[in-house]
Amino acid sequence: MRCAIVGSGLAGLAAYATLRHAGVRPEEIAVFGTHPDPTSAWRERAASIRQQRMRSESDGHVAAAGFPGLAVREATLAALARSVTNRYHPTVELFLAHADEVRQRTGWDASFAERRVAHVRAGASGFTVDGEGTFPHVLIATGHPGLVRVDGAVHAYEPHEYESKVAIVGAGMAAATEWRNALAAGSEVVSVRRREPLRRPLNVPRAYFSKRGLAGFHRLAPAQRAAVLHDLGRPSYPPGREWDDPLRRATAASQFRVSDSSQTHLPGYQVISATGFRKGWREDALLADLVSAHDLETHDRFLVLAPDSTVPALTDDRRTLSIAGVAGQWAFPAADTISGAKYAARAFTRRVCRTR
Ligand SMILES: Cc1cc2nc3c(=O)[nH]c(=O)nc-3n(C[C@H](O)[C@H](O)[C@H](O)COP(=O)(O)OP(=O)(O)OC[C@H]3O[C@@H](n4cnc5c(N)ncnc54)[C@H](O)[C@@H]3O)c2cc1C
Repeated sequence: MRCAIVGSGLAGLAAYATLRHAGVRPEEIAVFGTHPDPTSAWRERAASIRQQRMRSESDGHVAAAGFPGLAVREATLAALARSVTNRYHPTVELFLAHADEVRQRTGWDASFAERRVAHVRAGASGFTVDGEGTFPHVLIATGHPGLVRVDGAVHAYEPHEYESKVAIVGAGMAAATEWRNALAAGSEVVSVRRREPLRRPLNVPRAYFSKRGLAGFHRLAPAQRAAVLHDLGRPSYPPGREWDDPLRRATAASQFRVSDSSQTHLPGYQVISATGFRKGWREDALLADLVSAHDLETHDRFLVLAPDSTVPALTDDRRTLSIAGVAGQWAFPAADTISGAKYAARAFTRRVCRTR
């Protein structure tokens, strides 16, 4: 075995597809994860908030090569025209069908072993995964460590319907989506929030996806870098009439109002937590164990990584430990996107292939 991927979500699949595209064979890759279907964790969350279209654009797919993007696969003039002006957002259905195809085509199932990994340990020439190995190169892609929820409430990312009176706690993209969903279902909606949400087209500004923007980010001192990441983590949703108009109409009809966060238990209201995920390496049992076993450098809730998403103390000429997904934000602020997954995947693949 040349390498292992720990975590079987979208970032794991993107890494697998990238390795396969570079010529690494299924029998050289071990994938350890909780779900045989790499889309299942994401699929349930997206379905729960009734997401119809991707937040990402044409290149937001898990195949290794950027081209052809999903706009080309949709093959309509409208899709291509919108993609030229960065206004194309593929349907969730198209994204998932394509991800299924990548899973089949790359041989993912041949490498997959169902297991929740507890320990990754470094040795001189590689890593053991729960005592198995040695794997010279390991990529950890365990995703978000769990949901934050108001006691007793359903979470926006879990399956649910809407009752006639709904209190939605939170102020980010999931909350904004839930206001619209509940209003469309005919509910009376109270938005319970601690502060006003920011209005940003993307969670992470486009500059941080470019080489130049990233170089600037990588030059920041640790405290500044952490401050940027905290700021990017503030609740936001996109500007635009499609968000504002339904709220304006519902407010005028007394169907929507805002309440402050001291009132999360409104009698007679169904409470929905649109309060996102738990944050930071301490919340992820595998990462917390790894940090403590190898005394890894951290700053605040962030794992300190090299710009290529590797863990500096455990990466050298013979071995690589890479982090993909949200825990990789120190290297790539938008680590929790498909683009972020590919950023880590490509750097990991370069290292795997360099030492073949
Ligand atoms: C509702 C929603 C919509 C989104 N829409 C978009 C979008 O349109 N475009 C975009 O670019 N991004 C989007 N994102 C962001 C991002 O793409 C997703 O969060 C994506 O799921 C991240 O993939 P991941 O592999 O890091 O995490 P996940 O998909 O959550 O996968 C992690 C997997 O690892 C498993 N695991 C965890 N711990 C262990 C362990 N110890 N051992 C083994 N396995 C483990 C988990 O159970 C899970 O199966 C969206 C996120 C959400 C929540």
